Parts: sequence; structure tokens; C-alpha cells
Amino acid sequence: MDCIFCRIVAGDAPADIVYEDDIAVAFRDIKPAAPTHILVIPREHIAGPLDLDDENAPIAGHVLAVAAQVAHQEGLADDGYRLVTNQGRNGGQSVFHLHVHLLGGRRMTWPPG
Ligand code: 5GP
Ligand code: ZN
Repeated sequence: MDCIFCRIVAGDAPADIVYEDDIAVAFRDIKPAAPTHILVIPREHIAGPLDLDDENAPIAGHVLAVAAQVAHQEGLADDGYRLVTNQGRNGGQSVFHLHVHLLGGRRMTWPPG
């Protein structure tokens, strides 16, 4: 399995890392869709939200907590931001390692595209 996000976690691929701990890593998206666009991922390879269960749910919870911490760090707390996790073809998922997009710095629209 060749997973680009596993390679970033391992330090084998470059990334602009803004936060990391034992469970999660956060780095800037290579193709930002907003003034601030950060991806928060677990170190463990989980293919996507569909692969979450009671056993690995604490990891997903920690990823969300890290997103909040990074939002503070990036100055997004006051104006707000959006978290997005895509699943599969209809969700628009292109990297099959669980990640939360942290998007901020502009007003988001709803419904999403
Ligand atoms: P998805 O489409 O799966 O929801 O999101 C994958 C995201 O990963 C995209 O926004 C894409 O720009 C980003 N991405 C893909 N490859 C790389 C990479 O090698 N480095 C970084 N920093 N971001 C990547
Ligand atoms: Zn992976």
C-alpha cells in the first residue's frame, strides 16, 4: 500500500506540519481551497470515515480536538471555520487516509459544492 499521508507521517514525504503529537499530525494542504486550509490526520492508517468503529473512535475524537487546537493556533476561533471529511466517490475523497479539512479565513457557502 502506497499512502501519501502515511509517508508524511513517517517523514518520508515533505509537508508543512503545523502540529503533531503521538496520535495526530496537522499540515497545510498542498492545494489550499481557503486562505487557511489544514489537514488533520491520525498517525494510524484508517481509510476514511466509513472505517470508524467503537475501537478507533477515540482516535477520530482526538483528531477533532486537534482541529480545535489548530483553529486557535491559526487565529480562526473568533470568526469560525469549517471542518470537512469526505467519504468515497460521491463525497469527493481523493486520499484514502482519514483526514479532516480545517478551512478558514473566508466565509463558506452552504450547501457545499
Ligand atoms: P480529499 O479529496 O481526500 O477530501 O482531500 C485530500 C486533500 O489532500 C486534498 O485537498 C489535496 O489537495 C491534499 N493533498 C493531496 N496530496 C497531498 C500532499 O502530498 N501533500 C499535502 N500537503 N496535501 C495533499
Ligand atoms: Zn495512510
